[in-house]
Amino acid sequence: MPPFLVPGLGKEEASNICMNHCRAMCCRGPLLLELASEEVDSFLANGERLHVEVRLNRGMNEAAWLKFADHEGERCPMLDPDSFACRIYEDRPARCREFPVRKTPGCAISGG
Ligand code: SF4
Ligand code: SF4
Repeated sequence: MPPFLVPGLGKEEASNICMNHCRAMCCRGPLLLELASEEVDSFLANGERLHVEVRLNRGMNEAAWLKFADHEGERCPMLDPDSFACRIYEDRPARCREFPVRKTPGCAISGG
């Protein structure tokens, strides 16, 4: 499912807002990221490739989740701390691809 964007907002403009204005608020702080079972191996492999520690918690049916607060800088280990870009953008988990799913408080690209 594509993310819910303010009507008329293009993907490029949305990315600019995320990185340069919001500074990836949804990729850091007291939040969680859920991974589907089929996403776990590639997420771990990306962590190895980027030489970052990934601390996963296992859920039901081989799914997993991670707390940003368990990682350096309280951010997703895939987040570039300087540019606030996702370093696995083309391979990011479904939860990231689909966020925000609705108008969300604090999320500018959704109009919240
Ligand atoms: S909270 Fe919304 S505007 Fe901010 S980085 Fe996340 S998706 Fe982008
Ligand atoms: S994988 Fe990328 S988009 Fe998803 S939380 Fe981490 S840095 Fe953000």
